[in-house]
Amino acid sequence: MRAADLVRIAEGHPHPGQRYRHGWIPVGALNKGDRFVDSAGEHHDVDRIRPAGPSHVQVSTTGGRHFVRHAADTVQVVSPDTTPSGLVVPRQPASLHEALADAQTIDDIARVAEAESERITGRVTSFDWTGSDPQIAREHSEGILRGMERYPGTYLGHVGLDDLEPGVLGLTTWFEGYRDRLPVIDFSRVHSSDPDRYRGVLWRSSQRGPDGRRGLVTDTPAAVALHEFGHVVSANYQGFADIAGWLANKAAAGQSEDRDVFLARELSKHGVKSVMETAAEAFADVMEHGDGASELSKAIVARLDKGIAELGPQ
Ligand SMILES: [Zn+2]
Repeated sequence: MRAADLVRIAEGHPHPGQRYRHGWIPVGALNKGDRFVDSAGEHHDVDRIRPAGPSHVQVSTTGGRHFVRHAADTVQVVSPDTTPSGLVVPRQPASLHEALADAQTIDDIARVAEAESERITGRVTSFDWTGSDPQIAREHSEGILRGMERYPGTYLGHVGLDDLEPGVLGLTTWFEGYRDRLPVIDFSRVHSSDPDRYRGVLWRSSQRGPDGRRGLVTDTPAAVALHEFGHVVSANYQGFADIAGWLANKAAAGQSEDRDVFLARELSKHGVKSVMETAAEAFADVMEHGDGASELSKAIVARLDKGIAELGPQ
């Protein structure tokens, strides 16, 4: 742990546990009522500590905040006198990438992803990475969680692996009109367990041909997850896919060339298959490439942003 990751406080309320008066203690030893400050300087009172994986705990505060940390990470009692005045916890991981990098086993990665999903959205999405290569599981998790960060009001029930048709990398399933049956994302068991082959397929699919067309907008497992999350957005915000298709047709109408050729260059060949795929590819393009995404992708996601902003918190 780096010293720069700690924040000191000069005041706080008396600590209930005498044994914590001096030095360092593990995060896993925090108790209800303990007070600490986060890296932003905000004070929090511990409400509960619970397991978030074999080596992680989630620290929930009375204010409703959640911090996921290695149980073995240490926190410092700041005031070394007889009336200890507060605890300090290390800065939260700078990114989801770091949080997931800490997780070693498949189960650990799934528990961290679940805890992060709850931190971001206020609801737990279940993850089951059984059968996946660990690094692929981290990258898939990161894509899903980045999607959630962008649209925290989006409901997603479960993420896992399944035996999908050959050539299908991921599949999102939802049930129109059944609000109690949340969308489910499955990634291909074959590809998730064979990183070299998976990355090869993604790299080849995302290369542009002589006419600028490409199979997919990006070449990373995280982007495949973002693509699937784009379908989850369509499931949550009905009309998104239709708007994406309408914007795509409008952009193509101004071109002299064939619609599908134009769209396979702005998005991808996969993005031409249906309005659902147009929406999902545009979302993955913007989330992966930011300002470098195509003008069409940016226009589609900007329209989605505006629509969700008008709807307000879900
Ligand atoms: Zn798709």
